[in-house]
Formats: sequence, C-alpha cells, structure tokens
Amino acid sequence: MSEKTTPNWQVLSKQIKLDGRAFINGNRVSALSGEFFDCISPIDGKKIAEISRCNGDDINAAVIAARASFEDGRWAHKTPRERKNIMCRFSELVTQNAETLALTETLDMGKPVNYSLNVDVNSAANNLRWFGEAIDKIYDEIAPTPRTALALITREPVGVVGAIVPWNYPMLMACWKIAPSLAAGNSLVLKPSEKSSLTALKLAEIALEAGIPAGVFNVVPGFGHEAGSALALHMDVDCIAFTGSTNVGKIIMQYAGQSNLKRAWTELGGKSPFIVFADADIDAAAESCISSIFFNQGESCNAPSRLIIDASVQERFLAKALGLIPQYQPADPLAADTVMGALVDETQLNTVMRYINAGLAEGAHCITGGKQVMTETGGYYVTPTIFTGVNNNMKIAREEIFGPVLSVLSFTDAIEAIRIANDTPYGLAASVWSRDISRAHIAAQALRAGTIHVNCYDEDDVTVPFGGFKQSGNGRDKSLHAFDKYTELKTTWIKL
Ligand code: NAD
Repeated sequence: MSEKTTPNWQVLSKQIKLDGRAFINGNRVSALSGEFFDCISPIDGKKIAEISRCNGDDINAAVIAARASFEDGRWAHKTPRERKNIMCRFSELVTQNAETLALTETLDMGKPVNYSLNVDVNSAANNLRWFGEAIDKIYDEIAPTPRTALALITREPVGVVGAIVPWNYPMLMACWKIAPSLAAGNSLVLKPSEKSSLTALKLAEIALEAGIPAGVFNVVPGFGHEAGSALALHMDVDCIAFTGSTNVGKIIMQYAGQSNLKRAWTELGGKSPFIVFADADIDAAAESCISSIFFNQGESCNAPSRLIIDASVQERFLAKALGLIPQYQPADPLAADTVMGALVDETQLNTVMRYINAGLAEGAHCITGGKQVMTETGGYYVTPTIFTGVNNNMKIAREEIFGPVLSVLSFTDAIEAIRIANDTPYGLAASVWSRDISRAHIAAQALRAGTIHVNCYDEDDVTVPFGGFKQSGNGRDKSLHAFDKYTELKTTWIKL
C-alpha cells in the first residue's frame, strides 16, 4: 500500500493559480463592468487574487441562466438516478481536488490548512454525497382520503434558488446550500462572501466537470450591498437561503417582502452558553469548552462563547483551561501542526480587539490573551482570550464577537444558570455538563436553542438539522429537513 505523503503547503502556495472570476452559465467570466477587487490573504496581508466585483447586472445574467436551465428541465427532469450519480461524482471530484481546495481555503480565509483539508473538504464532499444519495430514496405521499378520490402530495423544486453565504466556513456553508438545493432539482445562484470567494468559484467548475449542466449552478462574487442585495431583491428568484449575521438576516427578510415574497431562510449568529454544573467531569468539560471556542479562531456561529459555571468549581475549571492555552497559540496556517490560524481580515481583527477593550473597560478581568501577535508576518492574529468576572449585561456577554474570546459567568443555582443562558437574543446552540442525567435533561428541555449538547460540544453530522431559535434564524440546514427550504408541496386531487 502506498503511503500518502504530506503536501508541502508552502511550496504549493507559490504554485497555485487562483481564479476570482464569476462562474455564470458554465463559463468563467469577468464582471460586466470589468471591475474587480483585491483578495488579500490574512496569513500575511498580501494580495493573492483579483475577484470580479459583480453587481446587479451580473446577478441578473446569472438568474436568467438559472431560470432558463430550470425551465427546460436539463437538470430537474433528469431521472432521480441520473441526478444522484452526478451529485456523487461531484462529491468524488471534490475529494480528488482536496489539496487544491484546502490550500485555497486557507490562503483565502486563514484557517489552519490541516483543518481545511480534514474538516472542511471532507465535510463538503460528504454533504454533496449524502444529499445526492437521498435523491432516489425519498418517496412522496398519498393522503388518507375517502375512496372516491386520490390526493397525491408531491414535493417539487422551488425553481431558482439564491444563496448568500459567509466567510467562516466558505466551502462548507456553500455546500450546506448547494447539496440540498441541487438534489431537490433546483437551479442555483450562489453569492459567496467578498472575504472568501475562491473555493465556491472552484466548486462551480468542479460541478460542471461532474455533469451538472451549464446554467444550473452559478457563482457570482461581489459585495453584499451590490451583488447580495440584487440577488435577494430579484423578482425572478424563488427562494433566498442566507447564512450570515443577524443584522443582515433582518435585511434579507425585508428584501423578500419588498420584492416577490420569495421564501427567505436565515442561518444567523449566536452567543451560545456552555453550562457546567458542580457534579460535571470538570476536566472533560474544560477540554471541550476550550477546543470548541478556539476552533476556527473562534469564528464559528455556534462557538460556546459564554461559559456559565457553578461558582464552586470555577477555579478548578479555569486551572485546567489555562493549562491548555499554550496548545492554542496562533501560528502559520500553512504549517501542518497549527491549530489556530489568522482572523479573516483586518476589519475582523479590529472588531475582536474592540470587544477585548470593551471587556476591559466594563470591568471584566482578562486572565489570558487579549493581544494581537505575529504582526511581523503582516497577517491578523489574536491570542486565545478568557475573561472572568463577566456579567450578562456586558457587551462581551451579549454580542457575538466572532473571535477567540471566552466570557466566563458564574451561578449558584440551576434556575439562575438557565435564566442567564436564555437571556440572549440568540438561540443557535447550548451545552450542559452534569453527571446527573435528570438534571442535564431538565436543563436541555429548558434551553431555547436549535442544538443542545449534553456532556459534549461540536458533535456534528450531516444527518442532523442545524439552525436556530429566536434571532439565530429560521429553517434548518443539513438532514432531510433541509429539503423543506428548497421544495414546494403540491397536492393533486384525482376524482375516482
Ligand atoms: P454578514 O452578514 O456580514 O455577511 C454574510 C453574507 O451576506 C456575505 O456574503 C455578504 O456579502 C452578504 N451581505 C452583506 N450585506 C448584504 C446585503 N445588504 N444584502 C445581501 N447580502 C449581504 O456575515 P459574515 O461576517 O460574512 O459572517 C459571519 C456571521 O455569519 C456571524 O454572525 C455568524 O454567526 C454567521 N454564521 C451563521 C451560521 C449558521 O449556520 N447559523 C453559520 C456560519 C456563520
């Protein structure tokens, strides 16, 4: 058996060719205006590509292509087995291009290349395969009507889907939309984040090679207020699937109302609580909390950014947590053993530093981190940061920081713990740690969030739905529930 050699990412990063042009109707194209903007790598602040600065005209061209491809049935009318085979081929080609995709992702948004390869590319390929496999295994329904009639309940594609995604898991968030929307037979126009457009563009090339017909899957890069708003306001887009911040999610819902009442689905921000009761396995809880909050540089929507801990075990927990911090220091994202990379750009770096300063100004204690480091690289790196003495009214407890910052709040009884945990506009995820299964269950029932972890965090699988309560959004990505976003239910009555 041949052993797989570890790629030399530094060398490959000098050789890789990155194409930032849009992908519309099966072709790479520049923006109609000819404009582009620079793509800066957060690793060293250097330019790595030029991205087409698409606007409403390019979005319109992509929607026209998507509509034409939907109406003539070149994808939607293929047999389920044909579509399944093509989606599975798409997944295989993603795996074959794993190193290119992983390196592109890391150069573009700064996460450790090892994670890009083993987490992001793997999960992206798995999503495409899982939804592809589902295509010829889901049956429609016949209603229990009187014998005088037959009522068929069928799921049909909504038509043209617009998807807008963020930069923190660029390829994976794209695949959470691409996989179920294409599997359901729709045509798609995807707008990636202006901060991380490259892997989504590459995915469109791979999809065409796999056999997804031209026009069915288009990727139009550009800014939110130009390309994004044009897509969400477009009168011929049937559904908009958005992942991003809560503030922009609110605007997306308005755009849907202002235009054609397209179906609007939102996967938004979080400020997830991590509750530790005194009887928990404290070491395991500390390891889980630290690895989850600092994963992806803290730039995860479901990061457990509020530790809510029984005051009697706080000292023990923090001693364990602080012992782990040296493993999470930022380092070169292209080094194979790095666990914490660069923040996505200078704006995000400044946002995180502003929150750290706000925490200090409001009287919280920074017990580790709080510093920008590796400035000599030209990149954007912040040390893992923990604040104690936080109360739930402070900015660092209420607002999503989207960086490597953990706020520690303490409680003295279970009711107070749940009250603090639920006292947030968000409801994406939560975690409860206790050896008492009843206590853990009761807490899980009381928590208002889309995913509850008991004695764990960041468990993840394509088979389970992902999404939020409250201002963390509506609808669900992943699992068969994701098809709800991309299908309409039709009833057909047949008189017998
Ligand atoms: P963002 O809201 O700033 O941008 C998201 C996308 O929306 C980008 O493509 C952007 O260009 C576009 N956009 C911005 N303004 C727009 C407008 N007026 N009209 C249309 N599109 C517009 O978010 P971000 O900074 O890219 O990503 C971070 C946010 O995403 C965090 O809040 C995070 O929690 C959230 N997120 C949520 C999930 C989830 O599944 N719930 C997953 C990942 C990220």
